[in-house]
Amino acid sequence: MSRSESRAQAVFEITTGEHLTVVKPKSLEEIWSSDVFSLIKMEDALSKSAFKAIKKTIETGAPLLPEFADDIAAAMKTWAISKGANYFAHVFYPLTGASAEKHDSFIVTDASGKAITEFNGSLLTKGEPDGSSFPNGGIRQTNAARGYTFWDPTSPAFILDTPNGATLCIPSVFVSWTGEALDKKVPLMRSNKAMNEAGTRLLKLAGEEEVAPLNSSCGAEQEYFLVDATFASMRPDLLLAGRTLFGAAPAKGQEFDDHYFGAIPERVQIYMEAVEETLYRLGIPAKTRHNEVAPGQFEIAPYFEAANVAADHQQLLMTVMKNTAKKHGFVCLMHEKPFAGINGSGKHVNWSVGNPTQGNLLDPGETPSENLNFLLFCGAVIRGVHLYGPLLRAVIASAGNDHRLGANEAPPAILSVYLGSEIESIFNQIKEGKLDDAGEAELMDLELSQIIPFPKDAGDRNRTSPFAFTGNRFEFRAVGSDQSVSGPLIAMNTMLADSLNWIADKLQVELDKGTDTTAAIFAVLKELMNEHSNVIFGGDGYSAEWHKMAVEERGLKNLPTTADALPYLHDESIKALFSSTGVLSPVELESRYEVYSEIYILSIGVEAKLVADMAKTMIYPTAMNYLSGLSTTHSGAASMGLDLDMSVAKTIVTESNAMMAAVAKLEEATEKEDFGSTDEHMQYCAKEIRPLMDLVRQHADALETVVADDQWPLPKYREMLFIK
Ligand code: ADP
Ligand code: MG
Repeated sequence: MSRSESRAQAVFEITTGEHLTVVKPKSLEEIWSSDVFSLIKMEDALSKSAFKAIKKTIETGAPLLPEFADDIAAAMKTWAISKGANYFAHVFYPLTGASAEKHDSFIVTDASGKAITEFNGSLLTKGEPDGSSFPNGGIRQTNAARGYTFWDPTSPAFILDTPNGATLCIPSVFVSWTGEALDKKVPLMRSNKAMNEAGTRLLKLAGEEEVAPLNSSCGAEQEYFLVDATFASMRPDLLLAGRTLFGAAPAKGQEFDDHYFGAIPERVQIYMEAVEETLYRLGIPAKTRHNEVAPGQFEIAPYFEAANVAADHQQLLMTVMKNTAKKHGFVCLMHEKPFAGINGSGKHVNWSVGNPTQGNLLDPGETPSENLNFLLFCGAVIRGVHLYGPLLRAVIASAGNDHRLGANEAPPAILSVYLGSEIESIFNQIKEGKLDDAGEAELMDLELSQIIPFPKDAGDRNRTSPFAFTGNRFEFRAVGSDQSVSGPLIAMNTMLADSLNWIADKLQVELDKGTDTTAAIFAVLKELMNEHSNVIFGGDGYSAEWHKMAVEERGLKNLPTTADALPYLHDESIKALFSSTGVLSPVELESRYEVYSEIYILSIGVEAKLVADMAKTMIYPTAMNYLSGLSTTHSGAASMGLDLDMSVAKTIVTESNAMMAAVAKLEEATEKEDFGSTDEHMQYCAKEIRPLMDLVRQHADALETVVADDQWPLPKYREMLFIK
């Protein structure tokens, strides 16, 4: 069967085929956390002292004595085997952004050759995967490849059920023989520690007597596309690059906004329920689901959790979504821009910090102007985003996300803070040195007696802001859908730690002068606003005026591509930020720059090859075949003295020639190897390779609009985007 025939067959099968139906989910209480070795299970299985110890470690970060690890390992093994697991794996989070796992069996043989199961504290605590193939950015030589995983008791172990069996998964950190972080979890935990230390210091200075350990929280909203697996299997670009490198715009896209929050297609809802059931078993609190803006695009958002656990759960959620999609005849696309011309996918990272004694420190409460803790922490965020905006841009930099940032669908590549009118006005008053009493919160009264009046939110939303205050948290909206949330969380916690320390230093000076605490806090916040209020922006972040004003008047950076953003990881101020907070040593930071820039260069390289390959071997031959048919018809008609319209044939010739010329240029461009530096190589990818890929596509897409539909080899946008 030719490719175009398979395409027709796929359309037929998808429209008429039977799909999975809903298996009525068991009650939530019954399945919730059933695949997690949770505190509740530990309480039943452990001695009182071991349980007390692990609970304290989880809640306060207190060290766990090694002898308790043996008790916990024994209980964990019994539980895992009862759930059908024969293997255990340390799961870790290398710099690729994916999750990695090395499986070991519980089975060992004794002297007599009998099989017994073994799992003790040291196996639970430490693993040694051969780490040489993980990118490490020069931290280790390949001949000195030792990498270790160490159990993170604060993130619960769980069972992962796959068709090939059940495995006990143990969330772990991943470090080199010299103790350097090779992963995203170590710096996330360190950033939380730095934030806790700085925050505790500041809260005490501000007069709080009892301050429980502070933790950061994260709730991530995941956007994704679903595409029929049959279509995806016919598109090498979707399979290898995760996005369409070709495809003419369909007659109907997202312009009617009729998909957004619309009724979820039945097949998709069945898929979502299956995903949610697995997530609930894994203790991941999936909370909301809806259609997104583009056709074929959806969102899932779990309820927020402690950042370290939320980050592990986010990784697991992506795995579950991709695996479940396969069973339902879909491919789940998490690429930031799978289809041109319609919205791409992001991952909004909602973030706050708090503790049991002071609560959520980003909650303004009823009277924000009197809530000093809130003003201090919110002020610290403002300073952080202003000073470290380029870092926030760098941690979300990827070849995929470059397609979204700066296009008018996603937050711009300029980092600014949106506070909402009420909070912005309070901070402006602090800057002016005069804070009026804020009025009572207004009521939203629709004057319909049946509708209960509601206190109005402190500000409207701003879709165009990359970093928005949303009532009791900040929402970092520029993160890419395929990215790990750890990078953004590390950057946010670390910049916050730095700012909290800066405020504490200043406050200390004021207090030493004998200034009263409240006056001292307002004096420091006034100074902070004088230096950093330029980053606050409530207007239209998509507008051309903002792009000009942000850079020319506000002094903010506009970093449209990864090639512009990643070099900031070399910036002295960012090195100093990570060293002074103890989150990343200069060597660890440099290794991240190397790994991320290499991934960027490699992914553009793969796409460029694929563009040339598909253009030459799929699109050009199709165009030529069609042309050959046309020319036979034309000459036949001419021999009968008929004068047929030649415009399509001419377009095919012009567009095919132009496409092949662009392919030749692209292939030549990808051969260049002599670059003065990695920065230069990245710029070359952004400024030379990408535009040539776009040029090839432009001509190929023009061909798609003239070649006979029944001959086109690739599933079309209109077929893939509207799920049957
Ligand atoms: P929206 O689409 O309106 O932004 P959603 O309900 O889809 O909101 O997602 C909001 C996310 O923010 C959820 O994951 C929610 O749990 C999370 N969230 C709520 N409060 C906090 C908080 N204090 N800290 C971190 N995340 C939070
Ligand atoms: Mg949101």
